[in-house]
Amino acid sequence: MDYYLKRKILHLFFPNRCPVCREIINADDCFCPECTDKLKIYNGSSEIDGVDKFCACFDYDDNIKPAIFLLKDGICGNSAHAFGLYIAETIQNDGISQKTDIILPVPLSVKSMRKRGYNQTELIAEVISEKLDIPVCCAVRKIRETEEQKTLDSDGRKSNLKNAFEVCNSETVKGKNILLIDDVCTTGSTFSEIAFLLKRDGAGKIFGASVCKANVKK
Ligand SMILES: [Zn+2]
Repeated sequence: MDYYLKRKILHLFFPNRCPVCREIINADDCFCPECTDKLKIYNGSSEIDGVDKFCACFDYDDNIKPAIFLLKDGICGNSAHAFGLYIAETIQNDGISQKTDIILPVPLSVKSMRKRGYNQTELIAEVISEKLDIPVCCAVRKIRETEEQKTLDSDGRKSNLKNAFEVCNSETVKGKNILLIDDVCTTGSTFSEIAFLLKRDGAGKIFGASVCKANVKK
């Protein structure tokens, strides 16, 4: 069934809500007008090792936090829809979508996947895919548990991710320009680690897009 028709029918039974304040909004809306006004659009620039171009939609602050929590709490609400559409627009404006062959959501470990029931970055990737007609390919998997990145400093983040991922289907990434999707990017070490593996297996350009960019704590 058509993505937007499905949303309209669902809306009749489970009205769409703003993922920040939980107000009821129209079926296709992302946020309510008040929250939309408060969200801070990211307009910085970040260089990430191994990533040819990076973009993000919002600064990670208290205004967007409730929607990020909702994305990860096992219900997801309207977060994936809202974030997917914002990323789709951002990567179009940045000239990334035009060069992207496949979208690759940052994977979760099997344990986290079981706990949550879904991979939140995959839900976002599917919305972008639907909007821009670019296929999603989950060609990387997370093969071991890692510490929560936010508890570590920059060096700790890098070593925490060493050998945490593997490319499970290198044929599908060979020669392809790949867009990595994550919810919150801080130092970019997750993107870096995956970009390194993909390039080693013959991928073309690697782009990274996250919903939010968080400041690196000094
Ligand atoms: Zn709201």
